[in-house]
Amino acid sequence: MKTLITGGAGFIGSHLSELLLQQGHEVTALDNLSTGRYENIAHLDGHAGFQFVNGSILEASLVDKLVERAQVVFHLAAAVGVELIIKRPLESLTTNIKGSEIVLDMAHRYRRKVLVASTSEIYGKNTNGPLKEDEDRILGSPLKSRWSYSTAKAIDEILAYIYYKEKGVPTVIVRLFNTVGPRQTGAYGMVIPRFVGQAIAGKPLSVYGDGKQTRCFLHVKDVVAALAKLAEHAGAVGEAFNLGSQEEVAINELAQRIIELAGSNSQVVHVPYDEAYEEGFEDMQRRVPDTTKLQRLIGFKPTRKLDDIIRDVIETMRRAPQGVQR
Ligand code: UDP
Repeated sequence: MKTLITGGAGFIGSHLSELLLQQGHEVTALDNLSTGRYENIAHLDGHAGFQFVNGSILEASLVDKLVERAQVVFHLAAAVGVELIIKRPLESLTTNIKGSEIVLDMAHRYRRKVLVASTSEIYGKNTNGPLKEDEDRILGSPLKSRWSYSTAKAIDEILAYIYYKEKGVPTVIVRLFNTVGPRQTGAYGMVIPRFVGQAIAGKPLSVYGDGKQTRCFLHVKDVVAALAKLAEHAGAVGEAFNLGSQEEVAINELAQRIIELAGSNSQVVHVPYDEAYEEGFEDMQRRVPDTTKLQRLIGFKPTRKLDDIIRDVIETMRRAPQGVQR
């Protein structure tokens, strides 16, 4: 397959590039290096089946050319990370809505298959668990950046779904729950690289709120394996899938496990949400996916437990705290 990955130099995009090349596919990675990093894919540059294009999904003529050449598009480019979304809300909205519109429009023009990466954020404050794909969205005010991000990603999903329903474009929606692994940076807010960095440096681990909120973390290698399978499965077209782990952990416990596994002397400090993000910030108290649909279609099953994931991140961050993480 000739594939195009938007956001191909990002954390998830770079692991997907690697896997698709290993599987014998051709990969064009489009990335504007805003949050993606060339170092993430530098080791792939020069590979016969790989091409890196430094550009944005907002450049319609560039996206037009690249989508025409591809058979399958993995649309991963987006503004991500709660902290980034809160600091730069306008840029986040533009990238997420306009960018996706351009990618889907070109996929329609050339009738290409597109796998659209969405997010568990679309469920908002729904604390039911495990969340099924048809669960209600429960959102706060659209004037709070987190909910505007959730809405922007929901618009991406609606666009993808309507292009399928009305125009017959083969689209697949994948809702990524918390994903973690080497090359993820804590710079945009993600909790595990943050805690691991703090634990290694012997600094206090900054737990936001009361730390009783829970999440489930899936290793990026399990994520990209599922994305590749979904792109090849005809039964995935026109459907939305949750992709995540079901091993639920409270953030307080996560901090303790990281301290222990890193053999660190760090303490935990609790930071109020208003200080960590912005006044009136609302967090999700619980977020657990129901992955039955994905299990049935592609036999999805995580291959790594949370402790393995934490160890992997500790090891790669110890080797290269700021630099290249393989
Ligand atoms: N979090 C934390 N300390 C940090 C960063 C995040 O306690 O330094 C918390 C955050 O408030 C949330 C959870 O960890 O409850 C997961 O945060 P992340 O940004 O990784 O993902 P998301 O909020 O999108 O699930």
